[in-house]
Amino acid sequence: MTPERRLHTDTDDGMLLIISGPSGVGKTTITRGVERAISDSVFSVSATTRDKTDADVEGVDYRFVSDERFDELVESDALLEWAGVFGRRYGTPRAWVDEQLARGRLVILEIDVEGAKQVKARMPDAFGLFVLPPSEDVLLERLRSRRRESEELIQKRFSEAKREIREAHECGAYDAFVTNDDLDRAIGEALEHVRTARGRRRGESVS
Ligand code: 5GP
Repeated sequence: MTPERRLHTDTDDGMLLIISGPSGVGKTTITRGVERAISDSVFSVSATTRDKTDADVEGVDYRFVSDERFDELVESDALLEWAGVFGRRYGTPRAWVDEQLARGRLVILEIDVEGAKQVKARMPDAFGLFVLPPSEDVLLERLRSRRRESEELIQKRFSEAKREIREAHECGAYDAFVTNDDLDRAIGEALEHVRTARGRRRGESVS
């Protein structure tokens, strides 16, 4: 029998990258920075039942769906993971992710800790990256400076952020933690983690 020969094709490179972090930590900016720097990366557009804001672009930031439509997606097992965040539901389209991975792409999921745990349970090869604030004080300051919410909601997000950080450290879903004290440095560090993990999968020796 001819020994099986593994050819290096682009399909070897498919990798799922989870990026999480509390709101106000700058994870969307870091996510977009990673996406820009890695040419074969693609951002997974989640379905959500939350209201669209003026800053959101349908089909680019999210697909905005009704509760009924979200129920259908859950029931037909069309979501790789989903979670309730601040009373709204968010989920990752499974078929699209599978297709992009099969094409060898770096597929970026910007999801919460609950979702990350589900993805890691189903796909242990996924790489989990968690973005941390430099300190709790800085996080609170950043949440306030967005000026788009009441103090009550800011405090709620702040408590939730602290709980999420604790959970991220304990749950085992994250392979790396990046502190966003300086945006360019944080993006650089995230890129280094991603490139190292991808290199490892290709069997490259990494120092
Ligand atoms: P926002 O409404 O501020 O855009 O997002 C709220 C939270 O939902 C963020 O922590 C974001 O990472 C998370 N999120 C966005 N899409 C998904 C998703 O598809 N699945 C899960 N589990 N969380 C998501």
